[in-house]
Parts: sequence; C-alpha cells; structure tokens
Amino acid sequence: MALIVQKYGGTSVGDLDRIKNVAARVAKSFDEGNDVVVVLSAMTGVTDTLLAMAHQASGKPCKRELDVLLSTGEQTTVSLMAMALQDMGYKAESLLGFQADIHTDNGAGKARIMSIGGGRIKALLAEKKIVVVAGFQGVDVDGNITTLGRGGSDTSAVAIAASIKADACEIYTDVDGIYTTDPRICDKARKLDRISYDEMLEMASLGAKVLQIRSVGFAKKYNVPIHVRSSFNEEKGTMVVNEDSGMEQLVVSGITLDKNEARITVKRVPDQPGVSAKIFSPLAKAGIQVDMIIQNTRSGGETDLTFTVTKTDYREAIDITKAVAKELGGKEVLVADDIAKVSVIGVGMKNHSGVASRMFQSLADENINIRLITTSEIRISCVIDERYAELAVRILHNEFFKDEE
Ligand code: ADP
Ligand code: ASP
Ligand code: MG
Repeated sequence: MALIVQKYGGTSVGDLDRIKNVAARVAKSFDEGNDVVVVLSAMTGVTDTLLAMAHQASGKPCKRELDVLLSTGEQTTVSLMAMALQDMGYKAESLLGFQADIHTDNGAGKARIMSIGGGRIKALLAEKKIVVVAGFQGVDVDGNITTLGRGGSDTSAVAIAASIKADACEIYTDVDGIYTTDPRICDKARKLDRISYDEMLEMASLGAKVLQIRSVGFAKKYNVPIHVRSSFNEEKGTMVVNEDSGMEQLVVSGITLDKNEARITVKRVPDQPGVSAKIFSPLAKAGIQVDMIIQNTRSGGETDLTFTVTKTDYREAIDITKAVAKELGGKEVLVADDIAKVSVIGVGMKNHSGVASRMFQSLADENINIRLITTSEIRISCVIDERYAELAVRILHNEFFKDEE
C-alpha cells in the first residue's frame, strides 16, 4: 500500500467522458490498496476563456478579482470528479485550495506556495476517502484566493506530495512523457526514460510547458520523484529525479521553444553608471521578471538596451519603461511581440565546445536571423522571428539528434 498523488491536466479532464475515464483510473489505484490524492486542472481551454471574459469586462481587470474568477475552472472539475467517484460507489471529497490549507504569498496571479497544512487531507484519507484537490489555487494570509501562475496545478501536486510525504507523485498529461523536444512540433522527438531535476528546470524555464518550473523546483528541494505519463494509456512515462551515474550522458538533452516573450528596446540612453538600475528597478518593483538583457554601446556616450519580458507582463513593462526612458532622455522605446526563443540544453555542454557554433550555423543555413543570444554553462538561447519558430526547432533537433534517428 502506498500514498499516491495523481495530477491530471486540462486535456485529461476536458469533458465529462474524460472525467469519468480519470475517475476509473483513480478508482483502480484505490482498489489496489493505495491512498489516493487527486489534483486537478480546469477543463482544457477554460482558464483561457475566463481570462478573455475578464478582459471583456474590464480593460484592466483587478488582480484579486481575476484570481477569484480563474480559480473557478478547477472548482468545476474537482466537484464533478468527486461526484463521478461517488457514483461509482467510492467515498470521495473535493477540497478547494483554502480548504486544503494551501497557503501562499499575496502575489496575485503568480502566487508562491508558502506552506501546506496537509492535516485535512490526511484526516480524509484516514476515513478511506479519495481526496480531490483543486490545483492552481491557494489562499493568502488575508484570506484572499490566489492562483499560482499558468500551469500551476503541477506545482500544487508536487507541493502536496512533499507536504504529506507521498510515496509517488504522478503527473498525467496528454503526452506519454518528457521528450527531447515538444513532440507536437517535431515528430522525430524521442521520449526520455529519465531526466535530472536540473535539466528539467532548464527545459521548463525555457518553454517546455509539460511541467511548470516551480513544480520542478519543489521536487528538487524536497526530493520528490515525479513520474510524467499519459492519462490515455498505461505506458511508463518519464521519471524526473536526481542526477545519477546511470543517466544517459548526452551533450544536448533537449530543445525548447518559448513564444511567450516579447522584446523591448530603449534607444539612446546615456552610457553612464546607474542607468540600468534606473530602468530595471521599477520593473522589479512591479513584480515583472526580465529574462534576456543585451546592451549595445553606441558612439557619443549613448547606449541601447534590449530586454525581454513575458507577454503577460508586456504592456505593463512598456508603460513603465516609457516613463523611465523619458526621464533619462532616451530617444525611443521599440517593442516587438512577434519573437520566439529557441534553446539548446544539456548538462554535457559543460565539457564540450562547439555546440553554440553548430546551433548558429544550422539557423544560418536556413536563413534564420538571430536577434538576441544568451548562454549559460548548460544552455544556449537565440531569439528569432516568430514565423521561423517551429522550423528552427526541427532543424536544431535534426542537428543534435540525427545520429539517433
Ligand atoms: P496539462 O494540461 O496536462 O498540464 P500541458 O499542455 O500543460 O498539459 O503540457 C503538456 C504539453 O507540453 C504537451 O502536449 C506538449 O505539447 C508540451 N511539451 C512541450 N515540450 C515538451 C517536451 N519536451 N516533452 C513533452 N511535452 C512537451
Ligand atoms: N488551469 C490552469 C492553467 O490553465 C492551471 C493548470 O492547468 O495547471 O494554467
Ligand atoms: Mg500543464
């Protein structure tokens, strides 16, 4: 007998038939003698629809009310799941984030989990109930409902698994594991048996939305092994675990694509100490994360600064940057949201040279212009025009994995 957390994503609970299909899988695990906590997302598309409605109701929807609205998607699926299980003769109870004692900070829209009580979940399990918890939501210290950022149900599941010391955390989704790149973009992508937390952190932070990055951070911190697998078949998926010597020693382990960033360029600000601090401090104060930053010095004591932010923060970032640029005597603020970031990732890159030049050459061979480049020890990212995004993924996959095909 084991204590298992199973998380099912939006496609897996996309309609009532699928909810019943998941209920049958959960029941099977319960019948095998396990204690089961189920964490659910909203039905696929529902969070997007709610978000669009909010923007129709208001030009600038209040973040608190947005969280109240967005959390309803998961409220719907957990109650339906509990009903479906009860209908099959099982004892089941749904819990919203606050009822499961999922406490977060007050960062509406992208709140961080601070602690999970776990007591109520355990008490219900002791009554031999299947506990169905709403993912993606929590409650802040003032009692406000918060949400955890897009894809946040993964984080709910891993954090719950850590807090109740579950034996397994299974993330069921619409692909049967983690691949060398998004299998929906590249049909040559290969499923990995195992991947280290560090590589998965890079993949998630660079656009592989199969797991929300914070879920991987939690898993690493609390040493929770994650099993990513399909809710539509019984196949073994991919284990996300600590790096060990039995792992494949690939130079490049994955290619990612991120279309969720936008680029802002501040033209001709003075090239002197304190300018970057003046531009980036107000962005940080507004909770806006800046990803890539490039500075080009011009002649005449002036410089251009280019940086990227997520599309969600884009408009707010433009307003803030325009105000600061004006103060600094900057000449112009240019913006572009039709960009994409492709990245090549691999822990093995630390000991191999030549990955960057192969990446640049492959893109050049297809006449794809590189707009920005950043590197770390274990990854290289290029910003390109969005219209080449999928092509770039396929040619890079071909370049770095063709020996395996
Ligand atoms: P869920 O609704 O179950 O949370 P998501 O849509 O958030 O599912 O994540 C699953 C999707 O992640 C897949 O459908 C796939 O298109 C995408 N994906 C991106 N990169 C990868 C990768 N390297 N391996 C597997 N899936 C990936
Ligand atoms: N429903 C939320 C979203 O669409 C959370 C999740 O699916 O994990 O982002
Ligand atoms: Mg997801």
